[in-house]
Amino acid sequence: MQTLVAHDPVDTRHHGAVTMPLYQNSLFAFENHASFDCAMKDVLAAHVYSRGNNPTVMYLERRIAELEGGEQARCFASGMGAIAGTLHALLQTGDHIVCVDQAYGPTREFLADLSTRYRVEVTFVDGAELDAFRQAIRPNTKAIYLESPTSGLFELQDLEGVAAIAREAGALTVIDNSWATPVFQRPISMGIDLVVHSLTKYFSGHSDSLGGVVVGRRDLVETISNRSYMLLGSVMTAHTASLITRGVRTLPLRMERHQASGLRVAEHLLRKDDVVRVNHPGLPAHPQRELAEKQLQGYGSLFSFVTRHPVASLKAWADDLEYFRIGVSWGGYESLVTVGEAPARWNQGGESPSIARLYIGLEDPDVLIGDIERAWSRLSRD
Ligand SMILES: *Cc1c(COP(=O)(O)O)cnc(C)c1O
Repeated sequence: MQTLVAHDPVDTRHHGAVTMPLYQNSLFAFENHASFDCAMKDVLAAHVYSRGNNPTVMYLERRIAELEGGEQARCFASGMGAIAGTLHALLQTGDHIVCVDQAYGPTREFLADLSTRYRVEVTFVDGAELDAFRQAIRPNTKAIYLESPTSGLFELQDLEGVAAIAREAGALTVIDNSWATPVFQRPISMGIDLVVHSLTKYFSGHSDSLGGVVVGRRDLVETISNRSYMLLGSVMTAHTASLITRGVRTLPLRMERHQASGLRVAEHLLRKDDVVRVNHPGLPAHPQRELAEKQLQGYGSLFSFVTRHPVASLKAWADDLEYFRIGVSWGGYESLVTVGEAPARWNQGGESPSIARLYIGLEDPDVLIGDIERAWSRLSRD
């Protein structure tokens, strides 16, 4: 896969330039009206206006389609642009959608909004239970929305199992694959119809751009292009596409490093007495370990762990860290941490445990572990 992203055949249209030039233009002009009329008949493929097609953006779309093994891809201004645009295009009043209950918060909010304002029925299910998907199916189920693993508790869904249930019900499947990236998980090869990403995360890899994408069968991506991309206008700029294309060149390399460092830090935390559990699908102790090994070829470096310490103490620990910055998002070069209250199911005997989400960046993992330990010694004294 690293060769796929590092190699381009020489493209003589661009004088052999080794990177895709930045097409910094809003519109494309035509030599005569006949060629303009011809382009207007095929606005999905022709270059007419950059809210439809831009060569720099299309280059990135082709690259991502190849990586995911999909026929076509469409890039959006952000991950939520891609997710909202996809759901908006697939659903209409009276339709039903089944969504994994731990999906990214704004995705759930968008579905809840479709439900109240457009009367799209939504059922949120426990993604770890394959049967929950089967039981949630109704005659009007149009789509099943997945995120595996989820990005807070890192629970998996059985992708082949859900794809089979959806096929039988005549419903489409959509998955948010931001955590694993195509380097570690290729959902289309497991029967999933559409893959969405926040390109802001690992694809960009440098915390300097926002982007999203939807990948899948040509007819589906064209429907999304017609109904959402062009009309809602949440399009990616050429400048962003060139930044994310640069990220893609090293995506497999970076993912290997993220995987190794993430596992090392997770294993380290697992050995602590005051850590109740570590939510990382790559650990042998993960409750869905077998499924993880079946459908993932590797692991992202975002995970969470639950401690016996109160939230305020764990927040003080986060403040003490030198190499982890406190902030949302992830996927860049820099390690990050956020702390909150752990879900009620991990309350043991009235305690209220805390949960921390760690993102392991590209720093030396020994330095990160040293940092965690140094701050932890103060935490244990409290
Ligand atoms: C960040 C994120 C998104 C949204 O992406 P944006 O680029 O911020 O709009 C969607 N899904 C997951 C899992 C994310 O982490």
